[in-house]
Amino acid sequence: MVISKRLSNKLISAFFIVLLIFSGCFILFTYFSAPVFLQELNQKLNQGLAANIVKEKKLMLDNQVNQKALKAVLNGLMVVNPMIEVYITDQQGKILAYSAPKDAVKQTHINMSAVKEFIDKKIERPIHGTDPRHLSRSKVFSAAPIKHKDTIQGYLYVVLGGQEYDSNVQLIESSYSVKLWSYTIIVSLIIALIAGWFIFRFITRRIEQLSNGIDEFKQNDFKQPIDLPTRFNHNGDEIDRLGATCQEMSDRIQKLILELKQNDDSRRELVANVSHDLRTPLASLKGYLETLLLKSDSLNDEECYYYVEIAYQHSQQLGNLISELFELSKLENNCDHLSFEAFSLSELAHDICQKYKLKADHKGLTLTTDIPKEPAFVSADIALIQRVIENLIDNAIKYTPSGGNIQLSVCIADNKVNTTITDTGQGIDEKNLPHIFERFYQVDKHRNSEGSGLGLAISKRILQLHNSHIEVHSQKPQGTAFSFSLSSSRF
Ligand code: ADP
Repeated sequence: MVISKRLSNKLISAFFIVLLIFSGCFILFTYFSAPVFLQELNQKLNQGLAANIVKEKKLMLDNQVNQKALKAVLNGLMVVNPMIEVYITDQQGKILAYSAPKDAVKQTHINMSAVKEFIDKKIERPIHGTDPRHLSRSKVFSAAPIKHKDTIQGYLYVVLGGQEYDSNVQLIESSYSVKLWSYTIIVSLIIALIAGWFIFRFITRRIEQLSNGIDEFKQNDFKQPIDLPTRFNHNGDEIDRLGATCQEMSDRIQKLILELKQNDDSRRELVANVSHDLRTPLASLKGYLETLLLKSDSLNDEECYYYVEIAYQHSQQLGNLISELFELSKLENNCDHLSFEAFSLSELAHDICQKYKLKADHKGLTLTTDIPKEPAFVSADIALIQRVIENLIDNAIKYTPSGGNIQLSVCIADNKVNTTITDTGQGIDEKNLPHIFERFYQVDKHRNSEGSGLGLAISKRILQLHNSHIEVHSQKPQGTAFSFSLSSSRF
């Protein structure tokens, strides 16, 4: 059997099968229960029939059937209901007289227990008694004792329904109401099926849209979010909630795929940059060491020292680059190692300034501070914040020509502690400003051979981990100012 792939068709098929089973059960039940109901009704309606006849006519005189009275009864009954059969029995149930044709009666006795049950009890269910016309069949009846001065002389036994309606089929076939009822069932079945089809189509319409949307999402290689004609929301029924969640999921998947692609691109770029930046100092190092090896005999001590010193500087540069790369990848991949503590940023700024004073003097720069006297407490990783400030001062010293000024200032405002490092150096072009925080980005790569291009990327990441960000203002050739702020904390 070919079953349609459409959910609505499957549902309507299932509904049709259920309807058929229900109707079948109903018809079977009616087929078996209708005759019982009719018999019960017949018996209840004619319950007092035998008793009334006995009351009206003296059917027995001195234990003998009063033929005249019986004839009168039969004549009267035949007119009213020809389906009725009348039997008169003695006390033991032996049939003494009857209304049926002579050779049609097959039984000589009536079962008296059924007769007594009928006389003694209220009828709650049809009571079947002997059908004298048949050896094994039973029928509903009405019965009453025939008395003479309180002594029972015999019984009047009236079989209701007679020879006709002997089988259920006969009864149903001949019933107009049953035919009408059958047509009603068929018409109701058709109406229910049509209504069911529309209802199921309406209910499954959104599932169909959702399923088409998901198929389209897959066909587009998960790059376009699911676009559905119906708006699904989380406050609706199960289908609505499912649709809304699917839409959100597709948005998220699309963003993740985009992020993955960007990460993949930047990883490729990183590998290319790393290998280039490692290769350059390594090649120089190798070149100077080779020269030393090959020309050691012809070089004097001063030249040897010169070559070794340059080789040492390159190895130092290589070491710095590797440790900065390691530091950045540690910061990018894992932020569990941060240890937050409350400390005074003004004190830290003072200490750093002391540390860099000599280096600044050496280059002919003035390093000044503008730090409040009172402690400016923040809750942060002190080693990492120190790394940020040192990075920025290091850069300021590196990119400010001799005679320039560098200022480190700390101020407290609006529950924030702001730190600014200002220099009067060469400044940064506007077009370069958005890129200086990228890994390996250097404005003048050739001139700045000592830098790695990672310092600002590390600083930016550290501040990100502290829910802060770094800002830069620069003007060529006036100078540059880097600043960041941290939430102040009570000690
Ligand atoms: P580097 O190791 O090259 O200093 P950074 O990431 O620290 O790497 O800085 C990136 C680039 O930003 C530098 O190469 C430099 O061109 C520019 N830059 C950083 N700080 C300053 C500054 N104070 N003045 C001028 N240019 C700067």
